[in-house]
Amino acid sequence: MSITKYFLNDFRHGMTVVFKHLFKPIVTMQYPEEKWRPYARFRGAPGLDTKKCAVCCMCTNVCPAGAITIIGKENEKGEKLIEKFEIDASRCIYCGLCAEYCPRSAIILTGGYELSVFDKKELIYDLAHLEDNVKKYMINDEGGVIEKTKK
Ligand code: SF4
Ligand code: SF4
Repeated sequence: MSITKYFLNDFRHGMTVVFKHLFKPIVTMQYPEEKWRPYARFRGAPGLDTKKCAVCCMCTNVCPAGAITIIGKENEKGEKLIEKFEIDASRCIYCGLCAEYCPRSAIILTGGYELSVFDKKELIYDLAHLEDNVKKYMINDEGGVIEKTKK
């Protein structure tokens, strides 16, 4: 086979591939204008429903990364209350064990996944941040679809 014929063959093969794909639907997601809505079992940013939390510290004990810090206190009726509840997202490995072992389903892993920050200190999620994560990222329906965020 001559060298010209060899390259022509290659060229023809390449163009066939190009034309085949020209008529197929576009699969590239136009992030950030388009975003993927995660499935309900997605393990993203941790969140806490403080009303449900019994301050039992089960989540702290099972966390393999030592990412959870809880300090509890008692009120005059002897009820346990949260004084401090923090999750260090820079240590969290998103294993979901805390949520699995929580007897009250107070701690959850939400659908939040855009978690990058400029300052590492912002990765320490305090109580307000954890409650906010539940409000912002809770997955209430089936995911697996692309959402348009801008028109
Ligand atoms: S998801 Fe895993 S690593 Fe992250 S806080 Fe929960 S138990 Fe710890
Ligand atoms: S395991 Fe659940 S109820 Fe117990 S401290 Fe953790 S979040 Fe609260």
